[in-house]
Amino acid sequence: MKLFVANWKMNKTRAEARAFSDELSRGLGDGLSDVELVVAPPWTALDAARDPRGRWALACQNVAAAAQGAYTGEVSAAMAADAGCRYAIVGHSERRHAFGEDGPVLTEKLARCREAKLTPIYCVGETAEERDAGLTAVTLVRQLDALDADPPASPLVVAYEPVWAIGTGRSATPEDSGAACVHIAEILAARRDLRLLYGGSVTPENAAELLRAPRTDGFLIGGASLSAASFQAIARA
Ligand code: PEP
Repeated sequence: MKLFVANWKMNKTRAEARAFSDELSRGLGDGLSDVELVVAPPWTALDAARDPRGRWALACQNVAAAAQGAYTGEVSAAMAADAGCRYAIVGHSERRHAFGEDGPVLTEKLARCREAKLTPIYCVGETAEERDAGLTAVTLVRQLDALDADPPASPLVVAYEPVWAIGTGRSATPEDSGAACVHIAEILAARRDLRLLYGGSVTPENAAELLRAPRTDGFLIGGASLSAASFQAIARA
């Protein structure tokens, strides 16, 4: 089953989320077979983005590393699950780079997801500098270390998102994305339920080609997921 995740980041009011949901709902009709759709809105738009008919699931874009308590401004994994999320994005490059999240913090966040029965969508990917220095494989191994304590039988989604491809309009080639996904699958060979996504400037135009890359089970989509029409066009590709 291919998986397509819309990461809205810090975009859309509740009214805009409702308009997206209405348009996606009309476009999907009875839904797409063999495709799983997930929408990751900001916290405030979770209800507005929900599909009463269950044709797409909800994800949150982040969870707190702590389970509960005096953490002003944070939202726990249990709260996200209670609000209807099935998935949680963990370790997105914007959280790694703008909020300094790495290693031990992400391990904690993954543990909170498991306690709350949220399936993590764990993001990895090298920067342009790491790629130019030939450090892509080393970077992926280091970032995947955060999964060491994660239970191998639990469902896991890993998104390969090269930082230089996110929001730049310059996607990876299917050769590069496929090679990275194959490498990740080798590192995580002990996992029993693993799906691998590519993310980085996916559009309706490049989706079909990128989806044919080896070991690629779908996409994590930023900019192109803000429009219901292009999100759906990517899923139909
Ligand atoms: C993302 O933020 O996860 C992403 C892949 O963004 P974009 O599709 O805009 O490159």
